[in-house]
Amino acid sequence: LLDLKQHRIIDLSMELHPRIKKLNGHLIPGKPMWGETRRLSIEQFIYANDKTLMCDVDLESHIGTHVECPYHNFPDAGKDVVAVPIETFVGEAVVVPLQNKKGPITPEDLRPFAIRRGDIVLIGCSEETEELPYLSDETVDWLVGVGIKLLGAQNLDWELPQMPRDNKHERQLLRNDIPLVEGLENLGTIQKRRVFFVGLPLKISGLDSSPIRAIAFEEI
Ligand SMILES: [Zn+2]
Repeated sequence: LLDLKQHRIIDLSMELHPRIKKLNGHLIPGKPMWGETRRLSIEQFIYANDKTLMCDVDLESHIGTHVECPYHNFPDAGKDVVAVPIETFVGEAVVVPLQNKKGPITPEDLRPFAIRRGDIVLIGCSEETEELPYLSDETVDWLVGVGIKLLGAQNLDWELPQMPRDNKHERQLLRNDIPLVEGLENLGTIQKRRVFFVGLPLKISGLDSSPIRAIAFEEI
């Protein structure tokens, strides 16, 4: 079994701060994320049956660290978070640190990491800046060609920096059943090149995408 004495667990998830309506009616304002406001609020209530505290939660499916599934771009035929096989969100992951990377991320940037078919790939760039690095067309083709099973990102954009955004890369990856994890944190604290990744969406049918608690097990 997985021995936690031999592994360090690294939390790769953002902490979110919702707007909270407390039982006494007090409102605690939330903290916006990514410089924009995405809906995330909770309202406390007392469950009548046993007088315990519960919460109504109102949130967008793309909030904090979350996984996008094919249904997000293909509402007619794409798999929702339940239809994607659970094995997709769990497994061996290649950590690709691209500190100080600017402009396009090319296949040459990824080749040294020995990415194999069935791998999860986690690409981590430096602090968020105005101009995020982004995947080139060739890189998206290359990742699809290799046959990775899940792609995660910290501080990079899937798309070319052009307006209007066409989500071409996102659609290409999702069309090939490669879900996308956005908003990862702490990838820079991982030292090993390969870790064991877990990032499970909620099992809510009809959901296009879902917040996840993403973690990595790194061998000590
Ligand atoms: Zn999203």
